[in-house]
Amino acid sequence: MSLTYLYQDRFVSKEELQISPEDRGYYFGDGVYEVFRVYHGRLYEAAAHFERWEKSAAALRIPLPLPSGELTGRLEELIRINGLSEGTVYMQVTRGAAPRSHPFPADTKPILMAYTTEARRPLNTMKEGISAVTMEDIRWLRCDLKTLNLLPNVLAKQHAVDQGAGDVILHRNGTVTECSASNIMIVKDGAVITHPANHLILHGITRAVVLRLAQGLGLSVRETPFTLKELRAADEVFITGTTVEVTPVISVDGVPVADGRPGEITRRLQNEFEKTISF
Ligand code: PMP
Repeated sequence: MSLTYLYQDRFVSKEELQISPEDRGYYFGDGVYEVFRVYHGRLYEAAAHFERWEKSAAALRIPLPLPSGELTGRLEELIRINGLSEGTVYMQVTRGAAPRSHPFPADTKPILMAYTTEARRPLNTMKEGISAVTMEDIRWLRCDLKTLNLLPNVLAKQHAVDQGAGDVILHRNGTVTECSASNIMIVKDGAVITHPANHLILHGITRAVVLRLAQGLGLSVRETPFTLKELRAADEVFITGTTVEVTPVISVDGVPVADGRPGEITRRLQNEFEKTISF
């Protein structure tokens, strides 16, 4: 059975979904997106995702075709129509279609699209951990906006693939920011340390959940920049994200993190995270 897509406020097949070659998403990456995790047929942390969606769209001055309350209902309906139990919902809006010209077109209509993907949780890498390589963060200075412009992230992820690594750890002049599609945290002397949620990183929904969980466990949480040197001296390293959940990093640039096995605090946070999705 073919998948149903949400296109504007209608449910259509892929064949019915016609995107114009003049769509500004295609020309300029002029749009924003969200990826939701679906557990047991339900959107995880929907309100937080919609808050970020609204913030990104407002920053780019893209008027949203549907208010978030209504859109939540449409996505829930999409999940039901596609019979999705475990997976993701991808949703994007572009500024619309118009002849190619940099300034905002005078009267274009934003184009909204969403679809579901079946996906299992990455249980293997969550258990075993991944290797990571470091790379200079060459992105712009509004990484807090979830825009369609992902070329530096694409190049970073390909660098990881080329190196046979699981992901890339990005840094600006030696200060670690995040990964190609996830946030990064280190554990040092029992404290969980991660880059502050400013313009240099995406404010990950999973990051916020995990920091709350860490606080709940009575751990010291420090939202403060850390360096590549501190990364290499960390007791534990892990990444957080909608699809990776809490995944340990067991080596950086080929050198094991501590004893090269997932750390104890990472494990405790994984267990706590598990509880938030067993509804
Ligand atoms: N940073 C980047 C660059 C990302 O693309 C993602 C994935 N959306 C994240 C962090 C993690 O964010 P979240 O936990 O909301 O998925």
